[in-house]
Amino acid sequence: MKEFIEEIKRFFSEKHIPVFGVTNARSLENEPSGHRPSDMLDSVKSILCLGMPVPKGIFKCRERSEWMYWRAACIYYRNIDMVLMRVCNIIEEKGEVAAPVYGCFPYDVKGKGDFWGYIGLVKIAEAVGIGKIGKNGLLFNSKYGPRLLLGGIVTTASLPTIAWPEKDERGCPEDCCICQEKCPVKAIDKRGKVNRVACIRHSMKSPIFSNLMKADNLGSEDAQMINHVTAVDDHSMYRCIQCVSACPYIWIPLCPPSLPPLRAKVGGLL
Ligand code: SF4
Ligand code: SF4
Repeated sequence: MKEFIEEIKRFFSEKHIPVFGVTNARSLENEPSGHRPSDMLDSVKSILCLGMPVPKGIFKCRERSEWMYWRAACIYYRNIDMVLMRVCNIIEEKGEVAAPVYGCFPYDVKGKGDFWGYIGLVKIAEAVGIGKIGKNGLLFNSKYGPRLLLGGIVTTASLPTIAWPEKDERGCPEDCCICQEKCPVKAIDKRGKVNRVACIRHSMKSPIFSNLMKADNLGSEDAQMINHVTAVDDHSMYRCIQCVSACPYIWIPLCPPSLPPLRAKVGGLL
């Protein structure tokens, strides 16, 4: 299986995927029913997560950065999903079974607009050791901060645990709460818990979906289906990325404890 990991590593390197990790699928078996690796695949043994960084410049654009991010996300999600499916094929060529946990869509829409991934990608990412769940609800990685877009795989293959590149991931610095302060709808509380419904309502606009939802007698299954065919990829616009673009750690990697604190290094940025 070591050679197999080397093969995946080489493939990721060709595809410019700088961060990935693998661990035992049991680590997410306490997740809510319907969102566990075993709900997705019988005899699942391992989970894998990869991260692709969105260029800093997209968040740095003085104007229209949400539109720039919209374009980037649409392209990244397609790319990530393609890479995931190729890795699933590589795994299946060894006689195992593998399924992708796509970068964003499809997802379950619960209640009044709460989106749930089939398996939470930030949870997979934290479990495999490529970062910690940050105070803005996104993955916080020591090199890229919160600007990694993620994809995952569940598989029956029993793969060795690995986090690449090896890092001691510690998450957001304790004294930072910039994203909470910058959120225009106060969707992030002081503990870092994100009100997802408030966030989604403010940050995403899906005009075709919204119009179709004005029809009477739509059940939740209809709403789910209409959402997937009208609000996915380019059909939804991102209107807010404040909790990422305001994060000082998209500019400078997190300093190891022995280096001067970030506040001293970036001065005017904070
Ligand atoms: S995307 Fe915008 S609304 Fe949502 S949590 Fe971040 S800052 Fe708040
Ligand atoms: S601004 Fe960045 S480092 Fe600070 S709490 Fe938010 S995500 Fe973490």
